[in-house]
Parts: sequence; C-alpha cells; structure tokens
Amino acid sequence: MDQKTVLYIEDNFHNRRIVRKILQSRGYSLIEAEDGISGLAMVQELKPPLVLLDIGLPGMDGLEVVGRIKADEALRHIPVIALTASAMRGDRERFLAAGCDDYLSKPVQAMELINMVGTYYPSNGNRP
Ligand code: MN
Repeated sequence: MDQKTVLYIEDNFHNRRIVRKILQSRGYSLIEAEDGISGLAMVQELKPPLVLLDIGLPGMDGLEVVGRIKADEALRHIPVIALTASAMRGDRERFLAAGCDDYLSKPVQAMELINMVGTYYPSNGNRP
C-alpha cells in the first residue's frame, strides 16, 4: 500500500462517512469494513498500517477483533485505536486491556482524530 491507508471497522454508515471525510482531507485513504469478521479478514489480508475499530459490531465485536489481531505475530505490530461512544467508567481500561493501543470517544472530533492517527501511523522507517 503506497498511499497512507487506514482501515476502519465500523457498522454505522454515518460514522464511516465522517471519519472518511476527516482523514481524506489529510491525505489518508480509508478502507472500510462493516463487521468484525470481514474487518479481521481485511487486517489479515492487507496488513494495513493502522486500524480504527468500533467496539459494538455485528458478528464479532471489536474486543474479539483486537484480541485476535494482537494474538497473531504477523499482525500484532499494527496499531489499533478503539472508536466508540461507550463512555462508562473503566471502558478505556477495558479496551486497552483487550489490546487496543488507544481509545477515542464518539462523536469523533476532527482534530482529535487527526492527532491520534498522526501519533500512531507508522513512519516509513518503522514499516515492517
Ligand atoms: Mn457499532
């Protein structure tokens, strides 16, 4: 993948559209999956440099998806950022314990998302 590519696993069309617009405005190209199973398959196949992950997903939830990514030696270097409306006390810790590298709450704020992606997006030198 030559372009700066981010995979977003999210079942909500509206959220995907917002994130797509924000990241495209900064030169990223967004690839998208609508459920956990196809999202995990895309991670395995494409090995994207960065994954944004909704937690509430049909089929396989985001915690299971990140667990499988981080249990796979070929994939565990890929940063995974949870994006979820869930704001209960302890959620952040729960997402990090499941293997997420960081967490952003929805509704997504453009600058927050851009800064977070910039922080975790691997530089060319770090590419495996
Ligand atoms: Mn969802």
